[in-house]
Amino acid sequence: MLEQQADRIMQLSEWEERWQENKIGFHQPEIHRMLQINYNAVVNRRSSVRFFFPLCGKAVDMKWLADLGHSVVGVEISEMAIRQFFQENNMTYSEESLPSLPGATLFQNSEKNISLYQCDLFSFSSSVAGQFGAIWDRGSLVAINPKDRERYAALILSLMGGDCRYLLDTLLYNPDLYKGPPFFVPDKQVQSLFGSSCNVELLQSVDALTDRQRAWGLDSLTENVHLITPKATN
Ligand code: SAH
Repeated sequence: MLEQQADRIMQLSEWEERWQENKIGFHQPEIHRMLQINYNAVVNRRSSVRFFFPLCGKAVDMKWLADLGHSVVGVEISEMAIRQFFQENNMTYSEESLPSLPGATLFQNSEKNISLYQCDLFSFSSSVAGQFGAIWDRGSLVAINPKDRERYAALILSLMGGDCRYLLDTLLYNPDLYKGPPFFVPDKQVQSLFGSSCNVELLQSVDALTDRQRAWGLDSLTENVHLITPKATN
């Protein structure tokens, strides 16, 4: 089932064009319900958790978490997405280039509890902004090119602090019917990417088929949320 999408490649320029042309059907104007439902599982009674949003787009979830007292670091290639995030949420923001990350720009709101790095995720590392206490991965593992999944998992694992709780949203559908993105990521692969160093628990599985995916040709769509936590080390 993985081979159908194995060679599909989205260039970074194609993502930037999607933003320029406003073809951003993946953006949701509301806080993601799977994040809301699983909020307690990911926060786990901690206050002021540092959340990482890989491939953040302009997800309103970032503001929601910051308003709840957490801080957010996101990475996004599209400068337009980042500017829209701050503008649409009525936040003033600063921008600076980063000598340590050539070509990247850091955008921050005035409270500095939301920091968005405009760069390729694969140039980001723990040396830029440390490790995180939580990760919300929606539209990220499912958006990167399938051939990059091992590399992606290695990067995410390197960004996880010892107490990190990683909430991962994946999509299951028949890959013969649609080429992606978003790409199909079976549970077995989640296990093979993260299972050797982490515990992987399926928290929620819902039927997520809407007219948007019917228009892609899909006849079923399941959205799964996994909680991934580092295995205790001795
Ligand atoms: N997580 C967001 C966006 C999902 S769409 C949401 O839920 O709304 C995927 C986003 O990743 C797009 O905004 C795209 O511009 C960005 N993107 C894709 N590949 C990237 C990469 N390698 N590095 C940084 N951003 C990337």
